[in-house]
Amino acid sequence: MSDPRDHGSPPCPCCAGEHSTPWLERGGLRYLRCAGCGHGWLDPLPEPGTLREIFGKEYFEGGREGGYFRYELDESGHRKTARRRLAFLRSLGLRPPGEMIEIGPAYGFFLEEAWLQGWRVHGVELSDHARAKAALRAPGYLVASPEELPGRLRGACQAVLLFQVLAHLREPERMLAEIRPFLAPRGVLVCETWNAESSIARLFGRMWQQVSPPAVQHLFGERSLREILRRTGFKLRSFKPWGKTVSLSFALGTAAGRLGWTSLGARLADSPLRRIPIPYGFGDLVVAVAEPDSPKSAS
Ligand SMILES: [Zn+2]
Repeated sequence: MSDPRDHGSPPCPCCAGEHSTPWLERGGLRYLRCAGCGHGWLDPLPEPGTLREIFGKEYFEGGREGGYFRYELDESGHRKTARRRLAFLRSLGLRPPGEMIEIGPAYGFFLEEAWLQGWRVHGVELSDHARAKAALRAPGYLVASPEELPGRLRGACQAVLLFQVLAHLREPERMLAEIRPFLAPRGVLVCETWNAESSIARLFGRMWQQVSPPAVQHLFGERSLREILRRTGFKLRSFKPWGKTVSLSFALGTAAGRLGWTSLGARLADSPLRRIPIPYGFGDLVVAVAEPDSPKSAS
């Protein structure tokens, strides 16, 4: 790795450090890596106006790299994963009834499962396409940004949840700071994300499945997540490996798409293999739990 140097890019979104080095490159797009906390982020970040296009229908239905072939085909897997996440919340002492906000609910499978268990559920979903789908599954507020949520939810939510979404946000620090006031004093933030410092991520380098620009804009590790949480008013309580259930067709289809075989990937995604669930647990998916704390200055 070359010496840390200032590329004239914005400071690290996690620790505000100003020194970074070129890191992983794919498809002509490049991530920088912070010399301070190890965080990786896309340079340049996509323009704000392009995000709705990146996460439009094509992302969920088109087999685009880093996206899905047909999101709803894996419904049973999404629901199993949702119930596993709800069991995790129970293990933290979080039980319905209560208010919860999911950031990035996609098609709303988790929100629906949580609602069926008695939670009062709300979602913040940037994608117009996904938000319309989620609205068919779950009651509650479904909005495009935290500022559209009603004031009555401020200080009233037991849980704010981000399942594999923080890395897709252009400004994750801004989202965390904006959602922080909605947590009740004893509420928790649960963030499921991918660990760029995991063994498998290091082994695969630029071929790691999360190196998928521009949909994946940030590559977090424990240090960078701790820093971004600290600076936005949270204290990281735990950070540990996590798993999920996917269908065999999803796993094979994603691998084929990764290699550029998109038509094969689409056929696999729509094959009977989707009825075969497989556990995903390679140590690169993690779940972090944080609690409200006083915001810390970047300086
Ligand atoms: Zn940093």
